[in-house]
Amino acid sequence: MIREFVRDDEWQKQIAGKFLDPFYRLRGWIVERFPGDHSMQRLHVDVSLRRTKDGKPEHSIDEKIIRGLRKGGPAEKINLETWSCSVPGKEKRGWIDLDEPSKATVLFVCHADVSDLSAESWRKVTCLDCVWIPFQPLRIWFWKQGEERWERNDNHQPNRSISRKVPITEIMANVANAKRFTIYPPEVSTIDTLSPAVRTCHQCNKPHDGTEREILVGSFLRWLHPGCESAFMERVRGG
Ligand SMILES: [Zn+2]
Repeated sequence: MIREFVRDDEWQKQIAGKFLDPFYRLRGWIVERFPGDHSMQRLHVDVSLRRTKDGKPEHSIDEKIIRGLRKGGPAEKINLETWSCSVPGKEKRGWIDLDEPSKATVLFVCHADVSDLSAESWRKVTCLDCVWIPFQPLRIWFWKQGEERWERNDNHQPNRSISRKVPITEIMANVANAKRFTIYPPEVSTIDTLSPAVRTCHQCNKPHDGTEREILVGSFLRWLHPGCESAFMERVRGG
């Protein structure tokens, strides 16, 4: 099961600085982070990505960094908030609701590979398992299915928010241009150039079978089978 979205600011800041800002910059974007003040959080834009200083944002990212699963392994579901408050008399729809104002163009959910809750545990994170989802298409698809279709998740904090757990595989299959990939820190040395059109696994070179995922290694995205990732990373680190 997916853990709660992490609310520990410092921990998130460290992970964003180590993994996500380099990820954006390596793609040529100028990164502008919004402070987590309350009104901005309501509008849910944490990061704007521009090509030029004065240009319009190319993407407005609602960035969520989540600690790893307690049982280990990759995340299977994402929590989409249908009610941010369900206290009687104070009900407020959640951010997945189509009528909620939002500037986000992309929901970017990043799962760290450690579940450790200690403040320093960000140092142990070696990669982020990320899902990049065009936000408005996600909302439209989600509501077409009807919220009752998904497993409900009740948060017992004072606002009693309610979300629905949606399998990542279904999002990938149904929301156009949704992408899943792993981000390793950019200090990992780069080896050769990569044509994005080539989707053969860089570790085993077997013909493309559709299970490969795009992984950022240094400045380059590489296609790898999930089972080939660790051997490939060892190869890169050792070389
Ligand atoms: Zn492979």
